[in-house]
Amino acid sequence: MFDQWQRPLDIRALIRQGITLEGEVSVAAMPRLQGMILRDAPICFSLSFGKNDEGLAVVSGEVEGRVEMTCQRCLKAVAIELNAKVQLGVVESEDGVKRLPPELDPLILGEGVIRLADLIEDEVLLALPAVPMHAYVCAPAYREHEGIRRAENPFASLRGLVKPPAH
Ligand SMILES: [Zn+2]
Repeated sequence: MFDQWQRPLDIRALIRQGITLEGEVSVAAMPRLQGMILRDAPICFSLSFGKNDEGLAVVSGEVEGRVEMTCQRCLKAVAIELNAKVQLGVVESEDGVKRLPPELDPLILGEGVIRLADLIEDEVLLALPAVPMHAYVCAPAYREHEGIRRAENPFASLRGLVKPPAH
């Protein structure tokens, strides 16, 4: 695999030519994800550059992958399925953002360099859960529940001591 995602993108040219970029980028190529995702994983992407029906410059597509994060309840690894739609409105400057319809997130070209990895990283960051957790009730919450049940039966340990009434 060659390092195409670290190369600056000529987004204006991609839009003019109506190019679709597809492939796989590794989490290791995206530094802002390093502290959040536990191990390297491939992120699949498909991004189409072009004009929409209203003539607006857009980038649309999706990013997909399966990553591991730290569960905020049990602190063990939890697998997160990523499947995020990308809908970006491409504008030259901050001024253009106001003219975008609400369904488009702004991608401001300005003078800065935009790499494919940056674009994908932004979308992954938006798609990751703020508080990753297992879908099931994982260990610590279960122990807590057990504690409550014990507390509800404070006399359970006395059961053996209670003698049946004599006749
Ligand atoms: Zn958990």
